[in-house]
Amino acid sequence: MSQLRSSIFRAGLEALYLSGAHHLLRPLFAGVGTIFMLHRVRPACDDVFQPNVHLEITPDFLRATLEHVRELDIDIVTLDEVHRRLRERDFGRRFACFTFDDGYRDNRDFALPLMREFAAPLTVYVASDFASATGKLWWVALERLIARADVIEAPVHGEQRRLDTPTAAAKREAFAVLHGWLRSMPSDVEINRAVSELCRRHGVDDSQIARELCMSWTELKEFASDPLVTIGAHTLSHCNVAKCTSDDAEREIAGSRGSIEAKLNRPVMHFAYPYGDRDAATARDFALVRKLGFKTAVTTRPGMLFAENADHMTALPRLSLNGNYQDARLLKVLMSGAATAMSNGFRRVDAA
Ligand SMILES: [Zn+2]
Repeated sequence: MSQLRSSIFRAGLEALYLSGAHHLLRPLFAGVGTIFMLHRVRPACDDVFQPNVHLEITPDFLRATLEHVRELDIDIVTLDEVHRRLRERDFGRRFACFTFDDGYRDNRDFALPLMREFAAPLTVYVASDFASATGKLWWVALERLIARADVIEAPVHGEQRRLDTPTAAAKREAFAVLHGWLRSMPSDVEINRAVSELCRRHGVDDSQIARELCMSWTELKEFASDPLVTIGAHTLSHCNVAKCTSDDAEREIAGSRGSIEAKLNRPVMHFAYPYGDRDAATARDFALVRKLGFKTAVTTRPGMLFAENADHMTALPRLSLNGNYQDARLLKVLMSGAATAMSNGFRRVDAA
């Protein structure tokens, strides 16, 4: 999310909180349940340039969220249980489910101990190539190379650009420009090629980032043995499946399930679309994941769960716990459904 959109969203959350409008919206938009979306969990770092900070929250904020959910007397359940309650329309109690994308090692080190304290199950969606340390977390590589560069030259949208990046503000702006350009590329192959070339020029080793940040298969085996942990699939290479041919999308999705099942010796019934927005998960992909036999699949579209989502189990929305809004007061607004309703145009279900 861009800095501006993020600020506007933040202002909207504040306005909802201060006006009390979330109380009025809650009966309409809180829905029957919530799937929280998280990525990294680790203590705050005070670097001024952290363009990926929306992808991480602190252990303190995770604790505040767990406490708030418990205070609201909401059940914290597994994805299998989300699936069951939706299918059987078992809505006697509200429920919440915690999901973490990509397979970061900090999920084990900082999130799992907290989840254990609250006896709360969690799902981690593993991109197989990250676990094998061959995948590329290009958004982290991009952050690192901009952090160390004073000037970056790149063929942005076909036009050679020179981006001066001496200050944190200039670095943020350059990140937004380059990130937007990269996300517009035809596939992740081109993205990885472009970022690797920039890394080479700016002396950043992008080959070690997956090993540094993500759990290996050996670590995942141990992690997955915790009864609270469910492992889901997140493609082989962390690609935008909507930009893949049908054959490639199927190979990425089924392949990731196959490799996790082989390495961890357990069935994989749940999937998360990498990037997961409207440009990265489409009706074709929802149908494909259903055909492949997954019970559920989650997007990054914002939304609470409603009874109608039972008809769209492979296109479930989530509620992001975003590093930009780590304010326990605003959890009330998030859990009222007012914030997600506001950002998805007051639709209850958005699965087309
Ligand atoms: Zn991801």
